[in-house]
Amino acid sequence: MDINEQRLWNRINELGRVGVDVNGGLTRLSFTDEERAAKQLVRKYMIDAGLQIREDEIGNLFGKLPGNNPNAKTVLIGSHVDTVLNGGMFDGALGVLIGIEVLQTLREKGLTTENSVEVVAFTDEEGTRFSTGMIGSKAFTGQLTSDDLTNNFDKQGISIAEAMTSQGYSPNKLETVKVEPESIKCFLEVHIEQGKILESNSVAVGSVTGIVGVRWLRVKLQGEAGHAGTTPMPLRRDPLAAAAEMITVVENLAKVQEGTVATVGQLSVNPGGVNIIPSDVEFTIDLRDLSDELLEQLLVGISSGVDSICSKRGITYTIEELHKLSGVSCSNEIKEEINTSIEKQGLEVIELPSGAGHDAMVMATFTETGMIFLRTKDGISHRPEEWADKEDVSMGAQVLYDTVLNLA
Ligand SMILES: [Zn+2]
Repeated sequence: MDINEQRLWNRINELGRVGVDVNGGLTRLSFTDEERAAKQLVRKYMIDAGLQIREDEIGNLFGKLPGNNPNAKTVLIGSHVDTVLNGGMFDGALGVLIGIEVLQTLREKGLTTENSVEVVAFTDEEGTRFSTGMIGSKAFTGQLTSDDLTNNFDKQGISIAEAMTSQGYSPNKLETVKVEPESIKCFLEVHIEQGKILESNSVAVGSVTGIVGVRWLRVKLQGEAGHAGTTPMPLRRDPLAAAAEMITVVENLAKVQEGTVATVGQLSVNPGGVNIIPSDVEFTIDLRDLSDELLEQLLVGISSGVDSICSKRGITYTIEELHKLSGVSCSNEIKEEINTSIEKQGLEVIELPSGAGHDAMVMATFTETGMIFLRTKDGISHRPEEWADKEDVSMGAQVLYDTVLNLA
């Protein structure tokens, strides 16, 4: 292996002790002292690696290894160092530290590249503090407005702009954060899978095909309340029994297509008495698939299912779309490079979509993007128990190293 496995592992553990909260997990929300301390440590690693460092006005931290050709586009590697509340030490941090390790190895071996290679720790990917994520990558790609900075608040009523100012950044210089797409050749992100696909296939590293699109729906059903003892079954208009049928329809529609997932995560029942037939019921549906076309077909299937169940049962309904995010595909060319690097390690190539959002999702709308997933113990993430084995981390770093050498 070319990369320094022990150095990388030590850094993951050292950064994994920054921002430890009272519950033993990590809490590093954006524009807080904990996040600043994490970036301070990352900056130190970048200095050790001999990189040229800069930080932009939204707090994105960059370390650059200049290429031989100053006019060539930059190969950008990155992820984030902010965490959710009581999170783990791999989500985000892994991608940044592996990036630094790859650049440090290149430099130590005296290898030069045509393109500059740069690693970035993006600000606030998780969206935990302001309920809106990927702030750093959106600003970098020009998809964040000054209104976004003043209209999004944390639980204390502090806006993003105010939080930025408190940490010494200038919200009015947002424009300076944006770069031109022509300056970037591609973006690469290594991340824990946060699922069980790699683990169930006994494979350390996976090649990501894209990031799934999401639709959130809210279905409201109106039936008729009644006495549980005195209303005979044929005379009922029970919206909860209707909802039960609908949830099964949603589940079955998703099962037909490999890769599609559908979840009913909220259900509220009114009035909610043991001996009362409910009058109205609300539930949500979360739909995800790489293909927007498939998601649209699924929406049609769900609405026709809801419609026929309601007419059979004398229920009225509304379906509201709460949230819509289009799926993005990773670059085929970069995916092939990643696959070659995985094969070079003697591993089986498993291609899989990402079910969670990442900075790569924003970057994919801006430049050629590739993503490498690492096996995650029991699929657990956003919790202190989040874990990736040292050997898997080393393997992921080596795969990125080979990929960068080929691309840059
Ligand atoms: Zn992440």
